[in-house]
Amino acid sequence: MTVRGRGPRHGNALSRIGVIRDGAILVRDGVIAAVGSSAKVEKLKESKEAEKFDVGGRVVLPGFVDAHTHLIHAASRAEEYDLKIRGASYEEIARQGGGILNSVKKLRAATAEELKKRARGFLERFAEHGTTTIEAKSGYGLDATSELRILSLHKELDAEQPLEIVSTFLGAHVVPTEYRGKAGGTRQYLELLCKQLIPEVADNGLAEFCDVFCERGAFSISESRSVLESGRARGLAPRVHAEQLSNTGATRMGIELGAASCDHLEYLKPGDIRRLAKSKTVATLLPGCDFHLGLQRYAPARELIDAGAIVALATDFNPGTSPTLSMAMILSLACSRLRMTPAEAIAAATINAAYSLRRERRVGSIEHGKQADLAVFELADYREIPYYFGVNTCWMTMKRGEIVHLRD
Ligand SMILES: [Zn+2]
Repeated sequence: MTVRGRGPRHGNALSRIGVIRDGAILVRDGVIAAVGSSAKVEKLKESKEAEKFDVGGRVVLPGFVDAHTHLIHAASRAEEYDLKIRGASYEEIARQGGGILNSVKKLRAATAEELKKRARGFLERFAEHGTTTIEAKSGYGLDATSELRILSLHKELDAEQPLEIVSTFLGAHVVPTEYRGKAGGTRQYLELLCKQLIPEVADNGLAEFCDVFCERGAFSISESRSVLESGRARGLAPRVHAEQLSNTGATRMGIELGAASCDHLEYLKPGDIRRLAKSKTVATLLPGCDFHLGLQRYAPARELIDAGAIVALATDFNPGTSPTLSMAMILSLACSRLRMTPAEAIAAATINAAYSLRRERRVGSIEHGKQADLAVFELADYREIPYYFGVNTCWMTMKRGEIVHLRD
């Protein structure tokens, strides 16, 4: 599956994933030098001198691009999972100091070494599941020191291990405890974000994107807008956590600000779908979140695709609402809950996700000139990737021409 051709993919084009049977790929210096049928590629002069690696008829895909993760966190929240199963809602847990604030407390208490070690382990798991590029958000620090520490770790990890990390500043995840319950607390926190942190993040090249959690209990439309505008003025492109638990109008605002992506979208209105379809803002769907929380309402993927919106999929890997780093599991959920076809789900998790990270010219498909980022599956048919749900069938992963995972 090459997913070749112009990205991003809209409407019917989402399911055209460029299947080559009995194909071969020529890689030179980490970049794809040729792709096509084995007969054609093997005839090339350069191929004759190349080292051969036989994948034995397995399914080859572009490496997955996971465009929404909260990589750096200090601990799981399995105790809240238990409470939720017994009937407590996500918002009730948040009001009792659980939820995001629970992760914040634990992250602030952890050392940079501990956080890095944990994140490294996760990055190895991502590679084992066929993911070669991830976006990673801050947002469990929520004070200057901790937020900058997370973003610096993104940068260090990007340099020190093979997977590519795209950094996003999410200081506007929620208002931290020390600003809550005091007059003007939210305003003071927003000032810290807009006047101190965003300039510092931008000046030090610690993030490419700025994100907000626009939701009741987090940030309002006007608060979110002020953060995203401050980020944008400093060169940080907007992304938005939008319409996850209610319709707040966040999608409309995101589109107005030229956001790279609006994510979640369970509570989209028909007007939002029409606006997304006319825009270049990607609709990134995160079905792992609804699955883990046991929610019945999923994002209207079919309507979005049929209207012509750019649909992407991501894990939303995080300790509270979507503790999975398996893109294959997300494909399974996309197929059975969002009614996307396996081909659509694959394009959404590769080329469209790459577009949302402004990297569609380098990653997200198997084409001449792109990075040799590949995921190979121990299967005979690409449709078996989502079909075997909860099973990791990834056999080999390659990043920039280097093998970063190989099952023995
Ligand atoms: Zn998120």
